Amino acid sequence: MPSPHLQHKQAVLTELETSRRHGLTAAAAQARLTQMGQNALAQPPKIPAWRQFAHTFKEPLVIILLIAVGLAWVSAAYDFFGGGDPAHGMAAIYESIAILLLIAINAGLSFWQAQAAQKSLDALKNMADHHALVLRDGQWEQIPAKALVAGDILKVKTGDFIEADVRWLQVAELMTNEAHLTGEADPVSKQTHAIADAQIGDRTNMGYSGSMVTHGNGIGVVVATGMHTELGKIADLLASVPTKKTPIERTIAKLTTRLMAVAIAIVFLTLGLELFKAYQTTGSLSLTAVAESLSTAIALAVAAIPDALPAVLSIVLTIGATMLAHNNGLIKSLNAVETLGATSFIASDKTGTLTQNQMTVTRFWANGAAFAVEGSGFDPVGEITPESAADDYQRFMAASVLNNEATIQEDADGIFQPYGNPTDVALVVMGHKAGITRDHLLDKNGTHDIDIVRVIPFDSTRKMMSVVIKDGAQYQVLTKGAPDVILAHTAQVADAGGLKPLETMKQTVENVVLGFANDALRTIAVAVRDIDENLALHGEQAALEHSLTLLGIAGIIDPPRPEVRASVATLHQAGVAVVMITGDHAATARAIALKLGIVDSPEATVIQGAALEEMSDETLFKLVPTIRVYARVSPEHKQRIVKALQRHNEVVAMTGDGINDAPALRAADIGIAMGINGTEVTKDAADLILLDDQFTTITRSVEAGRTIFGNIKNFMRHELTTNVAEVLALLLGVVLMTRPVGQVSATTPVLTALMVLWVNMISDALPSFALGYDVPEADLMQRPPRNVDQSVLHGMLGRIFGRGIVMGALVYLAFLWAAHAGYPAATAQTIAFLTLVFGQLWHVFDARSNRTLFHRNPFANGKLLIAVAFAASASLLVTLMPFFNTVMGTTPLSGTLYLAVICLPALPTLILSGIKALWLRRR
Ligand code: ADP
Ligand code: MG
Repeated sequence: MPSPHLQHKQAVLTELETSRRHGLTAAAAQARLTQMGQNALAQPPKIPAWRQFAHTFKEPLVIILLIAVGLAWVSAAYDFFGGGDPAHGMAAIYESIAILLLIAINAGLSFWQAQAAQKSLDALKNMADHHALVLRDGQWEQIPAKALVAGDILKVKTGDFIEADVRWLQVAELMTNEAHLTGEADPVSKQTHAIADAQIGDRTNMGYSGSMVTHGNGIGVVVATGMHTELGKIADLLASVPTKKTPIERTIAKLTTRLMAVAIAIVFLTLGLELFKAYQTTGSLSLTAVAESLSTAIALAVAAIPDALPAVLSIVLTIGATMLAHNNGLIKSLNAVETLGATSFIASDKTGTLTQNQMTVTRFWANGAAFAVEGSGFDPVGEITPESAADDYQRFMAASVLNNEATIQEDADGIFQPYGNPTDVALVVMGHKAGITRDHLLDKNGTHDIDIVRVIPFDSTRKMMSVVIKDGAQYQVLTKGAPDVILAHTAQVADAGGLKPLETMKQTVENVVLGFANDALRTIAVAVRDIDENLALHGEQAALEHSLTLLGIAGIIDPPRPEVRASVATLHQAGVAVVMITGDHAATARAIALKLGIVDSPEATVIQGAALEEMSDETLFKLVPTIRVYARVSPEHKQRIVKALQRHNEVVAMTGDGINDAPALRAADIGIAMGINGTEVTKDAADLILLDDQFTTITRSVEAGRTIFGNIKNFMRHELTTNVAEVLALLLGVVLMTRPVGQVSATTPVLTALMVLWVNMISDALPSFALGYDVPEADLMQRPPRNVDQSVLHGMLGRIFGRGIVMGALVYLAFLWAAHAGYPAATAQTIAFLTLVFGQLWHVFDARSNRTLFHRNPFANGKLLIAVAFAASASLLVTLMPFFNTVMGTTPLSGTLYLAVICLPALPTLILSGIKALWLRRR
């Protein structure tokens, strides 16, 4: 078919076998979807599962282990065929098989973990996917953008993305931004006539996939989807974005690489030292000595690397993301989990987030008289009573409901439901109460002859909206908006005695507005102007909206959400500042802020958009830490507020719902979009989407972010302490055991490589994992937010090394004691092994707290108790079962010894924690 921009719109519809009134049938749409495929850009091919699986073998630890296996086989071969000890050879074979088994388990686990993580991230992404409003079978319905097909009738409004290429059928002041295709940053006006051939940027009757609607609204027919769109044609130029690691993931990756280097150094050092020792004590190098030296070196290498850490970390982060989603907070990357917990400033829109967005006109002023309006909600019944000398409000009402796109409809249960902008709904309800409705005014059979000719929609930067109407032969522009804005374009005011010039009425009107605003009412001024036909049909916006006649002011109540006050208090306790940002009047904003506890004095400073405009960046920087309310701001100001706060090193979360909010959301550390009332553009720019539009969800997300971060800190503390202890115990053996003691040779490692592996995989990783699920510490929301510039390890190293060194020394002492007591090597190693295991299992309860063991209920985390119980009994079992005795080098102990290795390792934890608790109490 010829390019749709060349054709008349009806020709395009006919060609695509669709209709403007009914759209496609569901069946036709389904058939086209099957035939043409989904409306999505081609994805880079998925990495096949086997490659992902193979990838797990590239981990440093696995490589070290594979080398260990190789060495074990060499020494076994020597034992069997080179005249060595065949028993030792068998042990080496067992050991290597066990190591291989562990590698397999490890690979399986990381593979499963990566798959599971990907799955839950995909699920989150799907929830955040784009939607489109289409006409199917004569009904408008919201469908996933992926399901769009050619022939669909698509409706868009300001803030939407255009999800496919369309030929416009009907537009109202429609403008779109096509910068992604044309590089042209300014929005383009759209129209519906056929045009001669032109470049993409000049095809004003077409809309393109990926552009956003910056103004107005429109209806178009989809002409191309997916890879067939203009965007699709250049899509292979768009690089696929690799998933970025979060800061903690990067810290850990760096740590692991460093520890790898340390491990390699230690291994060679140990090997040299051990061989030297063996040569010194026996005068020659026996094969057993070489094998033992090797086994010590391997054990050390394994000990130095916190191998379970990356896997546990990414699982915990993914679990965190899922947890947030259950709380109605949808995050789009794992980074957000970390940042959320560090949030120190939350800048929130007032309307809809802090308030209910259930607007009702309670008072108005028209023709020089004040009126009270009764009734609540959307129910169109309520008395209108004059507060002063009664006068006429007909013109004010008529202008309020005509310059308005909202409606209310009674549902099956007799309850009135609002459709459209809440502010406009409030005016519609007010009109109904006075018996003045849009339907009635536009009804051709009635007494009126009114047509709506043009609509210039509400825009929160201009803070007004207008319609042009034709009443009989007379054209009029009706404008309504923020009173200060309207007054700036007003020439005269309708008063009881007729029209008066603005100068004489200005004070009166301003007092009315301030009176309403001080009562927390949102104010709207309604105005009118007679214009000629030419201006009416072709005039620019600015030419229409001036020399207005003010008809009246409406005062609208939008009650605060009841649960927000407690939420704000919680945040204040947690050292998080809450800032309200609104387009409303300063007095309205302050009154609501006071009700919500955002400010605590009626004198609190409110900065207005106009003042912000004048203010230098430097002044704003100085003021911004103390300001809690911004009024009459435009979305453009939000970005400046974010930047100023960020210069103070604050971590800023910022909400937004309109298209102009997107840059501020991107600038914020956490951009927050509204899931229900937000525009697609803001959802796209956001890091966090509130599925329920509720402020409390932000608070809960911050709390969840802190919980997860705290848990990560806890298990890192636990894991790293173990690594320090293992390395130290082994090193002490290497350096201090220079002579045989009792039955234990100088080259016998304190722990066998498999014991170290066991500790890392079982008694370390399992409880760590459980720590990742832990409940928050009681004072979590009583602490100030953490400093994001500090690494996750900040403030933990002292404790990690302190506890690690004591634990490592204890393990070595236990080994040394056993050697002196005359036990065989296997017994001494088993004693050391169990001392380490139980040292860890006691310590895990201490690692759970930022402070000490005694600050937490040890039974609060059921998963941890199970993990500890499992790790404890499994570790005891491997010393009892003959199979593991052979493989791991363990041996059964006596009852007394078991009791000792279970209980004694608790002492350091209890003593160190006790000292710290006393010290904390002193302070
Ligand atoms: P916020 O999002 O903080 O409520 P808005 O930008 O929606 O702020 O509104 C700012 C001001 O614009 C309001 O105080 C009101 O005076 C005016 N206003 C809001 N909605 C409309 C509308 N639909 N028509 C005309 N004026 C409006
Ligand atoms: Mg708003």
